[in-house]
Amino acid sequence: KKKLGLWRQVARLAPFIKERRGIMAAMIVCGLAGSAADVAMPLFERYALDVFVTEGDLSSVLPFAAAYALTVFFTGGVNFIACYLAMKVELGTNRDLRNAAFRRLQELSVEFFSLNSAGRLHSRVMSDTSKIGSLVSWSLMDCVWHASYILGAAASMFALYPALAAAVCVVVPLTALVFSLFQKKLVSVNRELREINSDLTSRSSEMITGVRTVKALAVEKKLFAAFSDTAERMRRRGIHAERLRGLFSASLSFASSLALAVVLWRGGILAKEQLGTFTAFMSYAQGLLEPVRWVIDAISDLITTCVNIERVMDLIDEEPLVRDTPEIVERYGDVFKPKKENWESFVGDVELRDVTFSYPGAAETVLEHFDLKIPYGSTVAVVGETGAGKSTLVNLICRFYEPTEGLLLIDGRDARERSTAWLRSNIGYVQQTPHLFSGTVRENLNYGCEDEKQDSELWDALELVGASEIVSRLDGGLDAAVGEGGEKLSSGEKQLLCLAAAVLSDPKILILDEATAEVDTLSEKRLQQAIKKVTAGRTSVIIAHRLSTVTDADEILVISGGKLAERGSHEKLLAENGIYAELLKIQNADDLTDAALRAAGGDCK
Ligand code: ADP
Repeated sequence: KKKLGLWRQVARLAPFIKERRGIMAAMIVCGLAGSAADVAMPLFERYALDVFVTEGDLSSVLPFAAAYALTVFFTGGVNFIACYLAMKVELGTNRDLRNAAFRRLQELSVEFFSLNSAGRLHSRVMSDTSKIGSLVSWSLMDCVWHASYILGAAASMFALYPALAAAVCVVVPLTALVFSLFQKKLVSVNRELREINSDLTSRSSEMITGVRTVKALAVEKKLFAAFSDTAERMRRRGIHAERLRGLFSASLSFASSLALAVVLWRGGILAKEQLGTFTAFMSYAQGLLEPVRWVIDAISDLITTCVNIERVMDLIDEEPLVRDTPEIVERYGDVFKPKKENWESFVGDVELRDVTFSYPGAAETVLEHFDLKIPYGSTVAVVGETGAGKSTLVNLICRFYEPTEGLLLIDGRDARERSTAWLRSNIGYVQQTPHLFSGTVRENLNYGCEDEKQDSELWDALELVGASEIVSRLDGGLDAAVGEGGEKLSSGEKQLLCLAAAVLSDPKILILDEATAEVDTLSEKRLQQAIKKVTAGRTSVIIAHRLSTVTDADEILVISGGKLAERGSHEKLLAENGIYAELLKIQNADDLTDAALRAAGGDCK
């Protein structure tokens, strides 16, 4: 992908800036007003000294005091308002960028998530966005405020005493040069520190999530060595960074003193005749270099934040692999604003017509000229070796991917003529590694439902899949917390809960992708009955490793080498004595061994 230049990147933020251009303009005006007041302050001092002290004329003390007090109040007020506005801009921009990024994450196809790690995506949504938020608020205001102060102070000094002003102003570009050298170093050290920090964080979080593996493999020593190395590196680079920062501050006050020295040296003579002008110069010279630092800070923020803008905007501009055309969105709405009134009623006929498919970027073809018709209400089981393409078939039916060639037809029409939301809201998909959301059993069961279900309905569904005993045994029953990702439940229990949730959402198409593989074999008979019940009255696709769970299917499809190798009922395929019969033989032999081991009291796992 081509890299964009600095301003091109910033221009990508236009839609987000446009959204709050009014408040940003107000913030900039406040910055300008504040800096004007800052520039005026030394002029007050000058007036007081020249008129009240040198001339001894006290007639204007009262109006002077009033004007002075007003300016002080004005500065305070403007400061407050500017900070308030900047904060609003910052938080608002953060919110909008995060919403846009999160929304796009939800629109992106599953493919995107297999290419990008969760950690990196998290940091794009969280920290990259906040860097941008602070750039368009605080950095922008700092830059405006302090740059205009530098210009105003310089103008004021030139108006008062050009020769001295020129001498002071020579110090400014010199210090600016020194600062920007420091800045470069500081930025690179900070970046390094951030990288070490994220390395350290990911090491500790990987240890925490993988604690079982860590203990089982006894790799604590190795992991600790790597962790403490990184921690040590952080300490050393941290000291280096602090040293640099200290040097930077010291050189800043040194440069300020230098400017003061110039005023004292060149302007000392003024002190006798024009005490006021002399003092004003002292104030300007003293206060001139801090703003130079702020402006350089803001500029370097702009340069470093370019990377963050790129990351966030690349995500927001990422095109989903499967996307409804504008005409489809116009007619049927999208996932966020579905126009359900225009949705056709859903029957549940599924057909793949002459489908050839390979994953994007992969050379190998997974399905070749594949034809399949699953009429409404029938239960189809898909079997085949690992890697045969069973899950791929499901990916295509759910439109997680589009066929490379050929068509997916739903209710006899090309699926692309309807919205993906329409299709998916009619599909219930239970996976081998099902995901529960942290919360209660009740919340998880209700997740896919339009309205909250009654307790009795929840229990009926649990009963149907044979999970009611499991839930009644939980502390709290339906209100028991399942833990993060459902960690408090066993894999088999999670699968049954997901199955119950799928039943409750009453989908027209039910897909079970190895959805009962983790459920204990002892309850197989009940599992068979449960599957029979949940698939009744809807189109069902069952992928099963355990063939005994699919013998009741209306049709069994055997996939091999990207093609439909055999199809028919259990009895028919057995009689044909082909791949299916072979698979069944192998599995029965395994089961017999397991049973024998169990009978002998051994561990069958
Ligand atoms: P099954 O479910 O039958 O075990 P899959 O449908 O998951 O098999 O996979 C079929 C083939 O496609 C395998 O060779 C696998 O390596 C490949 N494959 C699966 N997912 C992807 C992906 N996201 N990108 C590239 N290749 C993939």
